[in-house]
Amino acid sequence: MAFASNATELIGGTPLVRLNRVAVDVPATVLAKLEYLNPGGSSKDRIAARMVEAAEADGSLRPGGTIVEPTSGNTGVGLALVAQQRGYRAIFVLPDKVSRDKIRVLGAYGAQVVVTPADVAPDDPRSYYSVADRLVEGIPGAWQPNQYANPNAPASHYATTGPEIWAATEGRITHFIAGIGTGGTITGTGHYLKEVSGGRVQVIGVDPAGSIYSDPNDVHGYAVEGVGEDFYPEVYDRDLPDRIEQVDDHDAFVMTRRLACEEGLLVGGSSGMAVQGALRALADAGPDALAVVLLPDGGRGYIGTVFDDDWLTAHGLASVTEDAPLPDDTA
Ligand code: PMP
Repeated sequence: MAFASNATELIGGTPLVRLNRVAVDVPATVLAKLEYLNPGGSSKDRIAARMVEAAEADGSLRPGGTIVEPTSGNTGVGLALVAQQRGYRAIFVLPDKVSRDKIRVLGAYGAQVVVTPADVAPDDPRSYYSVADRLVEGIPGAWQPNQYANPNAPASHYATTGPEIWAATEGRITHFIAGIGTGGTITGTGHYLKEVSGGRVQVIGVDPAGSIYSDPNDVHGYAVEGVGEDFYPEVYDRDLPDRIEQVDDHDAFVMTRRLACEEGLLVGGSSGMAVQGALRALADAGPDALAVVLLPDGGRGYIGTVFDDDWLTAHGLASVTEDAPLPDDTA
Protein backbone atom coordinates (compact mmCIF):
# COMPACT_ATOMS: atom_id res chain seq x y z
CA MET A 1 0.00 0.00 0.00
CA ALA A 2 1.17 3.54 -0.70
CA PHE A 3 0.80 5.93 2.22
CA ALA A 4 2.92 8.19 4.40
CA SER A 5 3.10 7.37 8.10
CA ASN A 6 2.38 11.00 9.00
CA ALA A 7 2.02 14.42 7.33
CA THR A 8 5.66 15.42 7.85
CA GLU A 9 6.79 12.56 5.63
CA LEU A 10 5.05 14.30 2.72
CA ILE A 11 7.41 17.29 2.85
CA GLY A 12 9.32 17.90 -0.39
CA GLY A 13 9.13 16.13 -3.73
CA THR A 14 7.10 18.98 -5.25
CA PRO A 15 6.39 18.96 -9.01
CA LEU A 16 7.39 21.25 -11.85
CA VAL A 17 4.81 22.63 -14.29
CA ARG A 18 5.50 24.62 -17.45
CA LEU A 19 4.25 28.20 -17.57
CA ASN A 20 2.52 28.83 -20.88
CA ARG A 21 0.39 31.93 -21.37
CA VAL A 22 2.21 34.24 -18.96
CA ALA A 23 5.55 33.28 -20.54
CA VAL A 24 4.64 33.61 -24.25
CA ASP A 25 6.95 36.58 -24.71
CA VAL A 26 10.12 34.78 -23.63
CA PRO A 27 11.70 32.12 -25.89
CA ALA A 28 12.95 30.13 -22.86
CA THR A 29 11.06 27.23 -21.30
CA VAL A 30 9.90 28.38 -17.87
CA LEU A 31 9.01 25.76 -15.27
CA ALA A 32 7.38 26.58 -11.93
CA LYS A 33 8.19 24.53 -8.82
CA LEU A 34 4.98 24.28 -6.84
CA GLU A 35 5.93 24.54 -3.20
CA TYR A 36 2.31 24.99 -2.14
CA LEU A 37 1.97 21.23 -2.60
CA ASN A 38 3.97 20.66 0.58
CA PRO A 39 1.65 19.43 3.40
CA GLY A 40 1.82 22.77 5.25
CA GLY A 41 1.36 24.66 1.99
CA SER A 42 4.78 26.23 1.50
CA SER A 43 8.52 25.76 0.97
CA LYS A 44 8.97 26.50 4.66
CA ASP A 45 7.94 22.94 5.61
CA ARG A 46 11.37 21.89 4.37
CA ILE A 47 13.34 24.14 6.68
CA ALA A 48 11.03 23.41 9.63
CA ALA A 49 11.63 19.67 9.43
CA ARG A 50 15.41 20.00 9.15
CA MET A 51 15.80 22.69 11.83
CA VAL A 52 13.75 20.64 14.35
CA GLU A 53 15.59 17.40 13.59
CA ALA A 54 18.94 19.14 14.04
CA ALA A 55 17.82 20.75 17.33
CA GLU A 56 16.71 17.35 18.65
CA ALA A 57 20.04 15.85 17.60
CA ASP A 58 22.16 18.52 19.31
CA GLY A 59 19.99 18.62 22.46
CA SER A 60 18.69 22.19 22.11
CA LEU A 61 15.13 20.85 21.79
CA ARG A 62 14.05 18.22 24.32
CA PRO A 63 10.74 16.40 25.01
CA GLY A 64 8.12 18.85 26.32
CA GLY A 65 9.99 21.80 24.82
CA THR A 66 8.50 24.93 23.26
CA ILE A 67 9.33 26.25 19.80
CA VAL A 68 9.27 30.10 19.60
CA GLU A 69 9.85 31.83 16.26
CA PRO A 70 9.23 35.26 14.71
CA THR A 71 7.74 34.34 11.34
CA SER A 72 5.64 35.82 8.57
CA GLY A 73 3.39 32.79 8.71
CA ASN A 74 4.67 30.03 6.48
CA THR A 75 7.59 29.04 8.69
CA GLY A 76 5.07 28.99 11.51
CA VAL A 77 2.84 26.52 9.69
CA GLY A 78 5.79 24.26 8.91
CA LEU A 79 7.01 24.41 12.49
CA ALA A 80 3.48 23.99 13.90
CA LEU A 81 3.04 20.86 11.81
CA VAL A 82 6.36 19.36 12.85
CA ALA A 83 5.88 20.49 16.49
CA GLN A 84 2.49 18.83 16.94
CA GLN A 85 3.63 15.62 15.29
CA ARG A 86 6.65 15.46 17.63
CA GLY A 87 4.89 16.68 20.79
CA TYR A 88 6.19 20.24 21.21
CA ARG A 89 4.35 23.46 22.03
CA ALA A 90 4.64 26.24 19.43
CA ILE A 91 4.42 30.05 19.84
CA PHE A 92 4.77 32.39 16.86
CA VAL A 93 5.42 36.12 16.76
CA LEU A 94 4.15 37.93 13.64
CA PRO A 95 4.15 41.52 12.37
CA ASP A 96 0.65 43.00 12.07
CA LYS A 97 0.85 43.31 8.25
CA VAL A 98 0.40 39.52 7.99
CA SER A 99 -3.09 38.61 6.84
CA ARG A 100 -5.71 37.57 9.42
CA ASP A 101 -6.22 34.34 7.53
CA LYS A 102 -2.59 33.32 8.00
CA ILE A 103 -2.81 34.05 11.72
CA ARG A 104 -5.96 31.93 12.08
CA VAL A 105 -4.30 29.09 10.20
CA LEU A 106 -1.56 28.91 12.85
CA GLY A 107 -4.23 28.72 15.55
CA ALA A 108 -5.93 25.92 13.66
CA TYR A 109 -2.73 23.88 13.87
CA GLY A 110 -2.84 24.36 17.64
CA ALA A 111 -0.12 27.00 17.85
CA GLN A 112 -0.21 30.23 19.88
CA VAL A 113 0.26 33.56 18.04
CA VAL A 114 1.56 36.93 19.27
CA VAL A 115 1.00 39.90 16.91
CA THR A 116 3.43 42.87 16.94
CA PRO A 117 3.66 46.17 14.97
CA ALA A 118 5.33 45.88 11.51
CA ASP A 119 6.54 49.46 11.19
CA VAL A 120 9.27 49.42 13.85
CA ALA A 121 13.03 48.76 13.52
CA PRO A 122 14.28 45.19 14.15
CA ASP A 123 16.06 46.34 17.33
CA ASP A 124 12.94 48.12 18.70
CA PRO A 125 11.64 46.29 21.81
CA ARG A 126 8.21 46.05 20.11
CA SER A 127 9.57 44.38 16.95
CA TYR A 128 8.68 40.77 16.35
CA TYR A 129 12.33 39.80 16.65
CA SER A 130 12.65 41.44 20.09
CA VAL A 131 9.37 40.02 21.39
CA ALA A 132 10.39 36.50 20.31
CA ASP A 133 13.75 36.85 22.08
CA ARG A 134 12.01 37.86 25.32
CA LEU A 135 9.63 34.87 25.11
CA VAL A 136 12.55 32.45 24.64
CA GLU A 137 14.29 33.88 27.70
CA GLY A 138 11.14 33.61 29.82
CA ILE A 139 9.94 30.08 28.95
CA PRO A 140 11.90 27.10 30.33
CA GLY A 141 12.76 24.58 27.58
CA ALA A 142 12.09 27.14 24.86
CA TRP A 143 14.09 26.97 21.65
CA GLN A 144 14.14 29.48 18.80
CA PRO A 145 14.94 27.99 15.39
CA ASN A 146 15.92 31.44 14.06
CA GLN A 147 15.42 30.83 10.37
CA TYR A 148 17.45 33.98 9.63
CA ALA A 149 20.66 32.50 11.06
CA ASN A 150 20.08 28.72 11.27
CA PRO A 151 22.38 26.95 8.77
CA ASN A 152 19.89 24.06 8.63
CA ALA A 153 17.45 26.32 6.75
CA PRO A 154 19.59 26.71 3.60
CA ALA A 155 20.92 23.18 4.21
CA SER A 156 17.39 21.80 3.79
CA HIS A 157 17.19 23.37 0.33
CA TYR A 158 20.71 22.20 -0.52
CA ALA A 159 19.68 18.66 0.46
CA THR A 160 16.20 18.53 -1.10
CA THR A 161 15.04 21.43 -3.33
CA GLY A 162 18.26 21.57 -5.35
CA PRO A 163 18.54 17.82 -6.03
CA GLU A 164 14.81 17.61 -6.87
CA ILE A 165 15.19 20.32 -9.52
CA TRP A 166 18.37 18.81 -10.93
CA ALA A 167 16.78 15.35 -11.21
CA ALA A 168 13.46 16.57 -12.63
CA THR A 169 15.21 18.61 -15.35
CA GLU A 170 17.72 15.81 -16.01
CA GLY A 171 20.50 18.29 -15.42
CA ARG A 172 19.33 20.58 -18.19
CA ILE A 173 18.32 23.55 -16.04
CA THR A 174 20.10 26.75 -17.11
CA HIS A 175 18.49 29.34 -14.77
CA PHE A 176 17.14 29.15 -11.23
CA ILE A 177 14.97 32.03 -10.03
CA ALA A 178 13.63 32.60 -6.50
CA GLY A 179 12.42 35.48 -4.37
CA ILE A 180 14.61 36.43 -1.43
CA GLY A 181 13.15 36.64 2.08
CA THR A 182 15.57 35.22 4.61
CA GLY A 183 17.58 34.14 1.58
CA GLY A 184 17.63 30.51 2.71
CA THR A 185 15.89 29.15 -0.38
CA ILE A 186 18.09 30.85 -2.96
CA THR A 187 21.29 30.21 -0.97
CA GLY A 188 20.74 26.48 -0.39
CA THR A 189 19.17 25.65 -3.74
CA GLY A 190 21.49 27.97 -5.67
CA HIS A 191 24.66 26.55 -4.13
CA TYR A 192 23.58 23.01 -4.94
CA LEU A 193 22.72 23.85 -8.54
CA LYS A 194 25.95 25.84 -9.05
CA GLU A 195 28.01 22.99 -7.64
CA VAL A 196 26.35 20.14 -9.49
CA SER A 197 26.44 22.03 -12.82
CA GLY A 198 30.04 23.22 -12.44
CA GLY A 199 28.86 26.82 -12.19
CA ARG A 200 26.73 26.68 -15.35
CA VAL A 201 23.32 27.36 -13.75
CA GLN A 202 22.54 31.08 -13.47
CA VAL A 203 20.97 31.99 -10.11
CA ILE A 204 18.67 35.01 -10.12
CA GLY A 205 17.18 36.55 -6.99
CA VAL A 206 13.97 38.55 -7.05
CA ASP A 207 13.33 41.28 -4.51
CA PRO A 208 10.43 43.62 -3.78
CA ALA A 209 11.03 47.32 -4.42
CA GLY A 210 11.72 48.76 -0.96
CA SER A 211 13.85 45.84 0.24
CA ILE A 212 17.57 45.96 0.95
CA TYR A 213 18.77 43.28 -1.47
CA SER A 214 18.15 45.14 -4.72
CA ASP A 215 18.61 48.70 -3.43
CA PRO A 216 20.08 49.25 0.06
CA ASN A 217 19.72 53.02 -0.42
CA ASP A 218 15.96 52.96 -0.89
CA VAL A 219 14.51 50.78 1.86
CA HIS A 220 10.79 51.44 2.40
CA GLY A 221 7.50 49.59 2.98
CA TYR A 222 5.84 47.31 0.44
CA ALA A 223 2.79 45.05 0.38
CA VAL A 224 4.08 41.72 -0.93
CA GLU A 225 4.51 39.28 1.97
CA GLY A 226 7.33 36.89 2.81
CA VAL A 227 10.11 38.46 0.75
CA GLY A 228 12.51 41.37 1.12
CA GLU A 229 14.29 42.54 4.25
CA ASP A 230 15.69 45.67 5.83
CA PHE A 231 18.85 43.84 6.99
CA TYR A 232 21.09 41.08 5.62
CA PRO A 233 20.24 37.74 7.29
CA GLU A 234 23.10 35.36 8.09
CA VAL A 235 21.64 32.52 6.01
CA TYR A 236 21.78 34.66 2.86
CA ASP A 237 24.95 34.42 0.76
CA ARG A 238 25.12 37.83 -0.93
CA ASP A 239 27.82 36.60 -3.33
CA LEU A 240 25.70 33.78 -4.75
CA PRO A 241 23.10 35.36 -7.08
CA ASP A 242 24.37 36.26 -10.55
CA ARG A 243 21.85 39.07 -10.57
CA ILE A 244 18.87 40.44 -8.67
CA GLU A 245 15.68 41.64 -10.30
CA GLN A 246 13.58 44.22 -8.49
CA VAL A 247 9.79 43.93 -8.81
CA ASP A 248 7.28 46.38 -7.34
CA ASP A 249 3.97 45.52 -5.67
CA HIS A 250 1.94 46.34 -8.77
CA ASP A 251 3.86 44.04 -11.10
CA ALA A 252 4.05 41.28 -8.47
CA PHE A 253 0.29 41.33 -7.86
CA VAL A 254 -0.69 41.59 -11.52
CA MET A 255 1.35 38.47 -12.24
CA THR A 256 -0.07 36.71 -9.16
CA ARG A 257 -3.60 37.26 -10.49
CA ARG A 258 -2.58 36.17 -14.00
CA LEU A 259 -1.06 32.93 -12.65
CA ALA A 260 -4.42 32.03 -11.09
CA CYS A 261 -6.52 33.12 -14.06
CA GLU A 262 -4.31 31.96 -16.96
CA GLU A 263 -2.20 29.10 -15.60
CA GLY A 264 -4.56 27.60 -13.02
CA LEU A 265 -2.01 28.28 -10.28
CA LEU A 266 -3.51 29.97 -7.21
CA VAL A 267 -0.32 31.19 -5.51
CA GLY A 268 0.81 33.98 -3.20
CA GLY A 269 2.15 37.43 -4.04
CA SER A 270 5.80 36.41 -3.70
CA SER A 271 5.21 33.76 -6.38
CA GLY A 272 3.87 36.40 -8.77
CA MET A 273 6.89 38.52 -7.91
CA ALA A 274 9.28 35.64 -8.63
CA VAL A 275 7.65 34.86 -11.99
CA GLN A 276 7.67 38.52 -13.00
CA GLY A 277 11.36 38.72 -12.09
CA ALA A 278 12.07 35.49 -13.97
CA LEU A 279 10.44 36.74 -17.17
CA ARG A 280 12.49 39.94 -16.99
CA ALA A 281 15.72 38.05 -16.37
CA LEU A 282 14.95 35.69 -19.28
CA ALA A 283 14.15 38.44 -21.79
CA ASP A 284 17.47 37.93 -23.54
CA ALA A 285 17.79 34.16 -22.97
CA GLY A 286 17.46 31.93 -26.04
CA PRO A 287 15.01 29.10 -26.78
CA ASP A 288 17.44 26.54 -25.32
CA ALA A 289 17.22 28.11 -21.87
CA LEU A 290 15.42 25.98 -19.28
CA ALA A 291 14.45 28.05 -16.27
CA VAL A 292 12.98 26.92 -12.96
CA VAL A 293 11.21 29.52 -10.83
CA LEU A 294 10.23 28.59 -7.29
CA LEU A 295 6.70 29.48 -6.19
CA PRO A 296 6.88 29.46 -2.36
CA ASP A 297 3.21 29.23 -1.33
CA GLY A 298 -0.43 29.05 -2.36
CA GLY A 299 -2.95 31.86 -2.82
CA ARG A 300 -5.65 30.86 -0.30
CA GLY A 301 -3.96 32.98 2.37
CA TYR A 302 -4.20 36.06 0.14
CA ILE A 303 -7.85 35.99 -0.95
CA GLY A 304 -8.49 39.00 1.30
CA THR A 305 -5.44 40.91 0.00
CA VAL A 306 -3.98 40.29 -3.47
CA PHE A 307 -7.30 38.94 -4.76
CA ASP A 308 -9.48 41.60 -3.09
CA ASP A 309 -10.07 44.75 -5.19
CA ASP A 310 -11.12 46.80 -2.16
CA TRP A 311 -7.99 45.86 -0.25
CA LEU A 312 -5.79 46.74 -3.24
CA THR A 313 -7.52 50.11 -3.67
CA ALA A 314 -7.13 50.88 0.03
CA HIS A 315 -3.41 50.16 -0.31
CA GLY A 316 -2.88 52.44 -3.32
CA LEU A 317 -2.83 49.51 -5.76
CA ALA A 318 -6.09 50.11 -7.65
CA SER A 319 -4.07 49.88 -10.88
CA VAL A 320 -3.68 46.13 -10.23
CA THR A 321 -7.45 45.71 -10.41
CA GLU A 322 -7.44 47.50 -13.78
CA ASP A 323 -4.45 45.67 -15.27
CA ALA A 324 -5.52 42.20 -14.05
CA PRO A 325 -9.28 42.46 -13.49
CA LEU A 326 -11.27 39.66 -11.89
CA PRO A 327 -14.62 38.80 -13.50
CA ASP A 328 -17.41 41.09 -12.34
CA ASP A 329 -19.22 39.05 -9.71
CA THR A 330 -22.43 41.03 -10.19
CA ALA A 331 -22.68 40.04 -13.88
N1 PMP B 1 7.64 33.74 -0.19
C1 PMP B 1 6.96 33.53 0.94
C2 PMP B 1 5.47 33.59 0.92
C3 PMP B 1 7.65 33.25 2.12
O1 PMP B 1 6.98 33.03 3.27
C4 PMP B 1 9.07 33.22 2.10
C5 PMP B 1 9.82 32.96 3.36
N2 PMP B 1 10.01 34.13 4.15
C6 PMP B 1 9.74 33.48 0.90
C7 PMP B 1 8.97 33.73 -0.22
C8 PMP B 1 11.25 33.58 0.79
O2 PMP B 1 11.97 32.42 1.13
P1 PMP B 1 13.35 32.57 1.88
O3 PMP B 1 13.07 33.04 3.27
O4 PMP B 1 13.92 31.19 1.87
O5 PMP B 1 14.21 33.53 1.15
